Amino acid sequence: MPRPALRSRTIKRKIVRTPGGRLVIRILPKKHNVPKCALCKKPLQGYPKMTAKEERRGHRPPQRPYGGYLCHACLKALLKSAVRNNYPI
Ligand SMILES: [Zn+2]
Repeated sequence: MPRPALRSRTIKRKIVRTPGGRLVIRILPKKHNVPKCALCKKPLQGYPKMTAKEERRGHRPPQRPYGGYLCHACLKALLKSAVRNNYPI
């Protein structure tokens, strides 16, 4: 009997054949959610759903101010309002 956390039916399973010929269930790692924009809460572009192991290998956010924090549309609106109101970001 697997431990209680692995009895959930939401986790992904895969049936694999062992070298000895048995069929066993392998539990696949969960994928994390993608980061969202801090203002409009839309998922940020360029971030695929990755497992924790894949995230450890690294993902580079967009190389612009607020890259990986705000989406491009919100940053555009923020910069425009800052220029109009003469307000430093
Ligand atoms: Zn946004």
